[in-house]
Amino acid sequence: MTERTMSSENRVIAIDGPASSGKSSTARLLAQRLNYKFLDTGAYYRIATLHCMRNNIELRAPNSVLSAVSCLVKSSEKEVVAENLSVGLHTGFGVSLDPNLQLAKLASQNVTAQIRTEAVTKCVHHISSNAGVRRILIELQQKIVDDYARSGIVLEGRDTTDVVAPNAALKILLTANNEVRALRRAKQSGEDVKITAKSIAVRDSLDLNTTNFLKTSAVNSDIVVIDNSNLTIYETVQKILNLVFDKPLRFVLYCPLSHSIGSK
Ligand code: C5P
Repeated sequence: MTERTMSSENRVIAIDGPASSGKSSTARLLAQRLNYKFLDTGAYYRIATLHCMRNNIELRAPNSVLSAVSCLVKSSEKEVVAENLSVGLHTGFGVSLDPNLQLAKLASQNVTAQIRTEAVTKCVHHISSNAGVRRILIELQQKIVDDYARSGIVLEGRDTTDVVAPNAALKILLTANNEVRALRRAKQSGEDVKITAKSIAVRDSLDLNTTNFLKTSAVNSDIVVIDNSNLTIYETVQKILNLVFDKPLRFVLYCPLSHSIGSK
């Protein structure tokens, strides 16, 4: 079986969608099935948030946040590129690109669990709404996508289909109804479903101020919308695999985007 949607030059799949729509687990399993790299873009915003919190940066002060994140990325850049972020062993920060290894590092420490705590989740919007921070992190992510566009990479997160990797061979908007999203998240966190539903609604509205997946899906016809409210993760991944293997070849060349952002 050959991947007909993907060409040998463009094996990039971007998955966008709201909080708790299943982006992350779907993208990871898909990458495992295809033997592609996996880029969890949200982890970068979470690590940046944890970094600011640990250093007592005033999260409501955009300039302080930007300067803290910018220093963090600068200190990491060399190691990040050298190690392709594959195991996250560098000194600054990094996220594993191996879909079989969930690992986030900050200052040489494993922070995989810490970046998922409620404290970080509640504060991340201060960092992700900072235009300067977005520019830096998106540029970093675009470089990674460029590096693996030929061998294959699945990336997931807000704005991945329109800003981070608009030239992806396959762009998916994963949605699920609010009730299902709250149930899924509550099952993971052990929190009350009603409280979880409220916090998801707050995150949705905060994120919509800075990212625009809904606008994108409405105007951009090359985005495939998959509502997975009634699908298991395996069924969702199968649907995407069908698109990868069954559709006619759409793109020939992945146009590198690093160094060319500024659209946001
Ligand atoms: O996907 P995840 O829940 O880990 O993302 C955490 C937060 O990071 C999101 O709520 C959003 O504010 C931000 N984010 C973003 N752009 C991305 C990925 C995540 O702004 N590409």
